[in-house]
Amino acid sequence: MNDFASDLEHRLKALREQNLFRELRRIDSPQSPHITAGGRPLLNFSSNDYLGLANDPLLKEAAVRAIERFGVGAGASRLVSGSLAPFHDLEAALADFKGAEAALTFSTGYATAIGAITALMTKDDVIILDKLVHASIVDAARLSGAKLRVFKHNDLADLEDKLRWSSTLKLSGNKLKPGLQPRTLVVTESIFSMDGDVAPLNEMVILKEKYGAWLMVDEAHATGIVGRDGRGLADELGMAGRVEVQMGTLGKALGASGGYVCGSRSLIDLLINRARSFIFSTAPVPATAAAATAAIQFVRSRQGEHRRQMLHDRIGQLHAALQAPPSAFRSAIVPVILGTEQKAIDAAAGLREQGIFVPAIRYPTVARGSARLRITLTATHSSADVQQLARALNEIIDHPS
Ligand code: PMP
Repeated sequence: MNDFASDLEHRLKALREQNLFRELRRIDSPQSPHITAGGRPLLNFSSNDYLGLANDPLLKEAAVRAIERFGVGAGASRLVSGSLAPFHDLEAALADFKGAEAALTFSTGYATAIGAITALMTKDDVIILDKLVHASIVDAARLSGAKLRVFKHNDLADLEDKLRWSSTLKLSGNKLKPGLQPRTLVVTESIFSMDGDVAPLNEMVILKEKYGAWLMVDEAHATGIVGRDGRGLADELGMAGRVEVQMGTLGKALGASGGYVCGSRSLIDLLINRARSFIFSTAPVPATAAAATAAIQFVRSRQGEHRRQMLHDRIGQLHAALQAPPSAFRSAIVPVILGTEQKAIDAAAGLREQGIFVPAIRYPTVARGSARLRITLTATHSSADVQQLARALNEIIDHPS
């Protein structure tokens, strides 16, 4: 028999030996460029709060007003205890923002991927994933029981190979409709969370249509930042109407928390009826929905445009200081790939000694051998903040300890 305590200790020891042990770092201030950890100020380049909205008075006021009117807890699942008005307001705002017929929100982006993919796909179907999609999408695809294929990151030829293969499959056991093909769902992110690069969405749309597949795009790191008024990459490329499932999160540029799916009315009705992470979970705090609605109004306003411009100025500044190739897509996510786990940990510790907080990202978040610093820039960083980071980074890259 395995003794519980010694079994766990054994596993933790293995993590420590591989430099994969993780610890929570307590922060005693709101998310913003300047945070306090253990009484010590740190310049923060770790947050996905790209537009600096997480601590913005507009969002805080919207949340406080919602708490005063609706209280804190939602009581039960929205299908059980009634669906509070702030969720409906948020879903109307999201659908309008994304130019979709309807939207549905979930408690987190993770729950969104799990709920949407398992509602849509069954063991008779095929899911084709980009190699670098987020863990929530991988977990959802596995949980659905569908046949799973992974194409090389952003590699259209490999995607087409997988699509061609799926189009040769026939549904087994369907006596009423012999010869019918399984459903095929391709899933990608638009801006990738750990590399900051972009998916070739135009070409992916053409390919999925050629093979009669559906496309789901996770705009977690693009919503609020790219596209007209921050509507996302699919919008920027004029492809939003041809993407069956547009998903995203509310906890990054939109400064609140939660996740969403936008699409047709029938997609949203199916999710309300079939997405288990939506059905069997207490609705989130309505105040976060009210904050997210305020964030959507903000990103669509002239002030939102100004914030995006500030973010793009900071991105340009850091890319120039790090001498990034001019052709590369300029993202708020700037990875500095160092290789081993130890190198990434040492570099992050070196930066922390200089009062700069950048997370070391390791396996399994990224592949083994590609451990990295993941820098995220926000609109509320000053030019001096970015200068300080660039100086420290150049030193660490040139003179590793
Ligand atoms: N998709 C992507 C691409 C993400 O980066 C994340 C969060 N890191 C999620 C989904 C999950 O969203 P949440 O944090 O709201 O659960």
